[in-house]
Amino acid sequence: MLHVKNLSFKYKKQLILENISFSVNAGEHYAIIGESGSGKSTLLKLLYGTYNLNEGEIFWKDNPILGPEHNLIIGPSYMKYVAQEFDLMPFISVAENIGAFLSNFYPEEKQIRINELLDVVELQPYADIKVKELSGGQKQRVAIARAIAKQPEILLLDEPFSHIDNFKKQSLRRSLFKFLKEKNITCIVATHDKDDVLSFSDNMMVLHDAKIMATGTPQELYKNPENKLIASFFDEFNEIENYGIVYAHQLQVVEKSDLKALVVQSYFKGSYWLIEADLNGKKLFFENKSTLKIGSTIYLSIIK
Ligand code: ATP
Ligand code: MG
Repeated sequence: MLHVKNLSFKYKKQLILENISFSVNAGEHYAIIGESGSGKSTLLKLLYGTYNLNEGEIFWKDNPILGPEHNLIIGPSYMKYVAQEFDLMPFISVAENIGAFLSNFYPEEKQIRINELLDVVELQPYADIKVKELSGGQKQRVAIARAIAKQPEILLLDEPFSHIDNFKKQSLRRSLFKFLKEKNITCIVATHDKDDVLSFSDNMMVLHDAKIMATGTPQELYKNPENKLIASFFDEFNEIENYGIVYAHQLQVVEKSDLKALVVQSYFKGSYWLIEADLNGKKLFFENKSTLKIGSTIYLSIIK
């Protein structure tokens, strides 16, 4: 189990993280979310032992994770970290990069393992291509495969799919998180993307103003967002007087109600239209099966 107790950290004067405490069980998938600059990457780097803490402690099972003050080599052997700016060996092939840290003593097993990893990140056709010839998203996939090659006990992923296109992202996400669960690898992921969290994280935290603003399961935080910041991470939402935070999909057009609004604009979203309306001089968004005429009056009810 990973235990973080009262961690505080500053690069210079300003505290980036203050009094952070949380735990992650072995095999659990844990998400760290927060606005840009909220300290997600810094927290992952601290978990990896990249910097000395100003205060607090980090333990994996009974082992303290210590900073460079105490270690010549950064990063405990049981942990792997895929940075936001991944760092690969450009002049050797994809397969060689993935196998770089695997023993040459068992060439057959090594090849089987590399093939398994190429499947997980869907890079089989690129096995023999030099990494320098890959796109950003392909490189990111090689970095992920290399990090899981030796089956670490913990994997830290920083925006793991940020360079990967929508065509690949969904299936890659499923196959990576499935692989990690099967191998019981604890995974901590810093992300901007709700799709990394909703279906794949057991628990999550929201970082804000150097502190933990909220923790819970994705379902808990999604269903009862304590504030606008949390709601905005998940979905389009409104703050409606007397009702609080209401997601756009929780509003539906009805014959008559006390929520009377004027249609301002319709945006095509594929399976629905996002309608922008005016409710007593305030913007309101809701989802509708069809587009609505600009200027028409509608009544809405809330489905909770
Ligand atoms: P993003 O979502 O944009 O990746 P983040 O939540 O990962 O953001 P961090 O990279 O952890 O944020 O940065 C947190 C704060 O620490 C920012 O204000 C940033 O400017 C600052 N910071 C990050 N790295 C350094 C550094 N090496 N030296 C000084 N300040 C830094
Ligand atoms: Mg970051």
